[in-house]
Amino acid sequence: MFKTLSLSSLLLATSFNAFANQPILVQGAMDMETNVLIEALDNAKEVTRGSWTFWEGEIKGYPVVVSRTEIGLANAAASTTLGIELYNPKAIINQGTSGGHDPDLQRGDIVVGKESFNMGAYKVAFKEKGEGIHPTAWENFDVVMRLRKDGELVNYAHYEGDPALLAHTMKYAEGYSHGKVVEGKIGSADEWNREIDRINWFHETLGTSTEEMETSAAALVAEAYDVPFIGVRVLSNTDLHKQDFDPATAKHCQEFVLKVIDGLVAQYK
Ligand code: SAH
Repeated sequence: MFKTLSLSSLLLATSFNAFANQPILVQGAMDMETNVLIEALDNAKEVTRGSWTFWEGEIKGYPVVVSRTEIGLANAAASTTLGIELYNPKAIINQGTSGGHDPDLQRGDIVVGKESFNMGAYKVAFKEKGEGIHPTAWENFDVVMRLRKDGELVNYAHYEGDPALLAHTMKYAEGYSHGKVVEGKIGSADEWNREIDRINWFHETLGTSTEEMETSAAALVAEAYDVPFIGVRVLSNTDLHKQDFDPATAKHCQEFVLKVIDGLVAQYK
């Protein structure tokens, strides 16, 4: 037991010591959402734990770790936990593709997460046998978290994006040429919704700008460790405008995030 512990703390120490400064951790679920970021790293080194791969490198001489989270809430939570334990990041950016819920947004537009929440968590009122199934009556369920500082249990209806990261990210809105960049609410669930009535219902009752499958789970873990977090999601598809998934949007989102990272590097250095 003692031996196992000292070996793992040695491994952690190695990872920490690899960087002189706390790195920026930038996440994407799929290869197409991480390839541009990995390409931008100098001296990249690949590290895999379980299913989750990290590329440790530098941008403009500052440490940056790219994390491929894999798809879905559980993967996002697991890889964010690993990323924090391994690298003690200064900030986390979760970025990638998403499906539009706001009729004012088109494919290519970017939603910067002022808020994110678990869109797939429900509490359902009791109904007798034969009374049917009523998804529009289901209520979104808060996430209950135990706070690190005092062990108190707290309900989270959503997670706030870090205000400084949000303001910083929005500074790059004007320079983005593939659509507009707006602040909004990211709905995360292990779901891919394509029923227009359901999408409109989410938007109208829960205020979603766009849906995807990772942000709020990564935000939960960042909140637990008190690491500044922001979600940045491009609309890769929006059924509201009959615009199907376009992989080019994943590249455009990473290019935008690289500018955000350059600006952070200038601040953190
Ligand atoms: N194009 C892929 C699908 C990816 S699966 C394929 O067919 O193989 C879902 C991933 O895309 C998740 O990481 C999720 O965050 C993102 N995503 C993009 N648009 C989405 C949408 N409309 N609903 C849910 N997730 C979406």
